[in-house]
Order: sequence, then C-alpha cells, then structure tokens
Amino acid sequence: MLGSAEVIAVVLPEHLQRLLSQAEEQRQSGCRGRYAPSPTGRLHLGNLRTALLSWLITRLQGGEWLLRLDDLDTPRNRPGAEQIILEDLSWLGLHWDGSVLRQSERRGLYATVLSSLRRDGLLYPCRCSRRLLADISAPHGRSPVYPGFCRPLPPQWGPEQGRLPSWRLRLPPGELQWSECLGPDGCLDAGSEVGDVVLRRSDGLFAYHLATAVDEALLGVRDVVRGIDLWHTTAPQVALMRCLGSGLPRYWHVPLWTDSQGERLSKRDGGMGLPALQQEGHDAAGVIGLMAASVNLVPEGSRLSAQELLQSSSLEALIKYLGSKA
Ligand code: GLU
Repeated sequence: MLGSAEVIAVVLPEHLQRLLSQAEEQRQSGCRGRYAPSPTGRLHLGNLRTALLSWLITRLQGGEWLLRLDDLDTPRNRPGAEQIILEDLSWLGLHWDGSVLRQSERRGLYATVLSSLRRDGLLYPCRCSRRLLADISAPHGRSPVYPGFCRPLPPQWGPEQGRLPSWRLRLPPGELQWSECLGPDGCLDAGSEVGDVVLRRSDGLFAYHLATAVDEALLGVRDVVRGIDLWHTTAPQVALMRCLGSGLPRYWHVPLWTDSQGERLSKRDGGMGLPALQQEGHDAAGVIGLMAASVNLVPEGSRLSAQELLQSSSLEALIKYLGSKA
C-alpha cells in the first residue's frame, strides 16, 4: 500500500500567503462553519435541513456561520434563486455572519492560485472530449476517475480546432486523508480512487474543486458541514489545500433526507420546498420542528424556533444520531 500522498507545495504570491496565514490563525482560534448552496433553484427540504445542521453544528460550538453562494457554474444558475435562498434561510431564522460571499466575486483569487499552480508544474492541459468522459463538472455523486490520458502530452495551452483545453491537477500518488466527525476518517487513493480533477473547465469556468478548496483555505473554515453525497469530493479538495500549504477543515458529511421510497429529494423534481409546507399551514417553528424531528433532536410534531432548538440541543446528541446514520 502507498503511504500518504507527498505534498508538492506551490509558491503563492505574498498577498495570498498573508491571507493564508491569517486564515490559519482563524482556523486555529475556533469554529468557523459555512453553508454553500448553488443558486441553481430553490432549496428543497433536504437542502434546508443540511443548512440547519450546518448552522446548528457551528453555533453549538460558538462559531461563526458564513453563507457562500457557489455561483460559478453560470449556465446552471437560475435568475432569482439567490434571493429566494436568502429569504428562505432568513425566514427559518438561520442568520449568517457578515455579508454573503459569492464565488463569482472571488474569481481573481482563483485565477491567481491557478497561475501559481500552473507555473509550478502542478497542472496539465486536457483535451479529452465530454463524449469520452462522463460529466466531470457536477459536484454530486461520484465522478469516474480520470485515467490520465493527457498527463504525458506536451503542455500545449492554446486553442486547438477552436477549443481550449481544460486544466487538470497533477495529483501525486498516495493516500489522501481527512478528518470526519460523523464516521471513520476519510481516505482515498489519489491514483485509483480520485484521479486528476479538472480545476479550470474548457469553457473557461473555474471548477468546483478549485473554488471550494481555495475558499475553505482562505476563509479559515474549520468545520465543513455538507451532504454525504459530497464525501468523495473531499479528497481532491484536501489535496489542493495541502498544495497551497493550508491547514485542513474537519468534515461533517450528513445524511441526505430521503422520501418514503428512500429516494433523495432533488431540486429538479421540485422535491418539497418551503412553499408547499407554507401552503399546508406550517410556519417557521413548524418547519424547524419537522426538520429537527427527522434527526431525532425533538419529538415529532414539535414547534420551535431555530434559537430554541439551539438552546435545547447538544453536539453530543447530534453526533450520536447522525453518526449512526452516516
Ligand atoms: N454548492 C454545492 C451544492 O449546492 C455544495 C458545495 C459544498 O458544500 O462543498 O451542492
């Protein structure tokens, strides 16, 4: 078996180094959590429960809770979705600290990190067509491991037949490990289970892994609470954070809410959102009660505000219940 993946550190410009050390101080000094929805539609009840858990886990540790909009995949963004997400979270009493962060406003940071990675030989251009590969842009589910077709080719960055390449991270071999609070620590083999992920897509958009890793690193996030469907995405993100010389967050991958047939709710099929519940006569206290009961924090039929839930919950109880489901 191979050991831990070797770290190839990248040299970042001084202003980013400074931001990184400030972020590291923040990470060491206490809990900072974040919720990072994509404005691709209205949040359904499952997304809202993940938001509630992220808020609760952060607040139970006395931490700051950031709201970051993962809005880089512009073709998938829906007009008005951001506003509705903010309204729904506020209606539930899930208030965030500071101003809303938008990845679309942080493109300069991602571009600088990419240039440094490229200059230090950690990226290579890839011209494999989408047809050849399964869709590698979606953060959900497990994407196929890229077999490295373009790794040995000469690094030609310009357009070919009118198309630019995508840029992949050259992952060093070995195991990528991270700390999980609700289950066994994560560990995946870089070569056989992760592969060289895309950091910049051929359409020029910064990819999810790049933006997420740069943000966790530079925002000093200590606790990442998100759906278990994103478990596999942690390995490349951790690899990238290590290249940047950043400390790592710890991860809370929480179970997804499933319907009575065991199918997970999805934005696409309109999987129950707040309007349906509001039409049934639920107010915010009713919805918080419903979500909290689904993770065993309160009895069925409870009605309480997010603040009341915070006051009556304990991290131990949450870990015990969620850990048994993860
Ligand atoms: N924006 C992603 C989503 O809505 C979540 C990303 C993350 O939490 O890392 O699925």
